[in-house]
Amino acid sequence: MKVLVVGGGAAGLMAAGAALRQGHEVTVLEHMEKPAQKILVTGKGRCNVTNDCTAEEFLHHVRTNPRFLFSSLGAFPPARTMELFESLGVELKVERGRRVFPVSDKAEEIRQALLRYADRADIVHDGAKKLLLEPLAQPEEAPAAPEDPRRPKKKKPGPAYRCVGVRGTSGREYKADAVLVATGGLSYPTTGSTGDGYKLARQAGHTLVEPVPSLVSLVSHDADCKKMMGLALKNVTLTLHEDGKAIFEEQGEMLFTHFGISGPLTLSASSHLGDMKKHKYEAFIDLKPALSEEQLYDRITRDFALLANHAAQGALVKLLPSSMQPVMVARWGIDPATRANQITREQKRELVQLMKHWRVSIDARGDLAHAVITSGGVSVREVDPKTMQSKKALGLYFAGEVLDVDAYTGGYNLQLAFCTAQSFANNL
Ligand SMILES: Cc1cc2nc3c(=O)[nH]c(=O)nc-3n(C[C@H](O)[C@H](O)[C@H](O)COP(=O)(O)OP(=O)(O)OC[C@H]3O[C@@H](n4cnc5c(N)ncnc54)[C@H](O)[C@@H]3O)c2cc1C
Repeated sequence: MKVLVVGGGAAGLMAAGAALRQGHEVTVLEHMEKPAQKILVTGKGRCNVTNDCTAEEFLHHVRTNPRFLFSSLGAFPPARTMELFESLGVELKVERGRRVFPVSDKAEEIRQALLRYADRADIVHDGAKKLLLEPLAQPEEAPAAPEDPRRPKKKKPGPAYRCVGVRGTSGREYKADAVLVATGGLSYPTTGSTGDGYKLARQAGHTLVEPVPSLVSLVSHDADCKKMMGLALKNVTLTLHEDGKAIFEEQGEMLFTHFGISGPLTLSASSHLGDMKKHKYEAFIDLKPALSEEQLYDRITRDFALLANHAAQGALVKLLPSSMQPVMVARWGIDPATRANQITREQKRELVQLMKHWRVSIDARGDLAHAVITSGGVSVREVDPKTMQSKKALGLYFAGEVLDVDAYTGGYNLQLAFCTAQSFANNL
């Protein structure tokens, strides 16, 4: 069979390699000069290639449409991904949270392994501009019968087209029996994912779930963030509230930036945001999660006794990083000249509250271009979860981030690109 893969990224190269092993003739269209550029920025250049968990555990980390992955993940779980990369010569290691990385800590090694896996494919430097679609005759509808409860329900219309190839931006036509769209989402467009797959899908009549940034930094109009920009906090707990209700809580690292907050905790929290026009979001940071409010009160009392003659800010030296001390004093509302031994019990209690519940308003998501992934995309209702074939056009398939499936951080997004790609190739 002639297989055309549009997009030589994680999903595209995985699909190409797997289709070759099924004896198919494979062409990959890649519009960037080098394929799989995005792999190089994954895991901060180390590529968290999958997560060493079972398929069942994996599904708990998929944010959108986990059920869609049931079949493909069952057939190609993380263990198979690890086996495959090891068979391609990549030594792997498992880190915190069962994140899997190459021992070399080099994403390039994963990229090279994928290229080796797909090395018998013809990789053509061209972009896919348009699908070549042939209309399919629809079965004639039976004449409408009077209200009859025994009458079978109206059948859903079958595919309206057959996809027979793609027209490239060069004008060249690429004919194929199966066309896989693996063009990724809209984030990090410099790596080649510019949303073209959405246009191709729309051409075949697919519904698109609005693409929004996910795993992204968050914008806050709170001026304190800018005052502390560059400050990274380790071992803090971030709780995200939606309309006053906690919807996410995790301990880890975060960062204040000139526009709001970033860092691993923030990215994870961002994937829990819903419609920001309808809901109000706030983040609360517990700066001392290891201490209860009572313990923190006692600790503050001890510190203030030791630093008795220091002014308010100086009294915080052992408790807070330097760039946070003046911001804390301002939010605390205490006269900065107050000496530690003059601070009242009530003021210490207020300080405990600020340190355990540092509030940051969340006003917007960061932009799509800087998001780790794009949430949304081709509606999975219109794609067969076993074969990845479009229900709108025969011979058309989707895999990877172009689909409306996305997961949290931890190697899950690459894994879902890999398993959907394998499902495509192994069910042709
Ligand atoms: C900074 C960052 C860090 C990340 N870290 C991790 C991580 O550690 N672990 C993890 O699991 N996930 C991570 N991800 C997410 C992961 O990289 C993506 O989910 C994954 O790459 C999606 O694979 P894909 O093949 O669907 O899309 P992509 O990898 O984006 O590949 C799409 C390919 O299609 C090509 N293309 C697009 N349009 C056309 C066209 N019209 N014609 C021809 N070619 C086209 C593109 O050039 C590109 O090569 C990270 C993402 C980012 C941005």
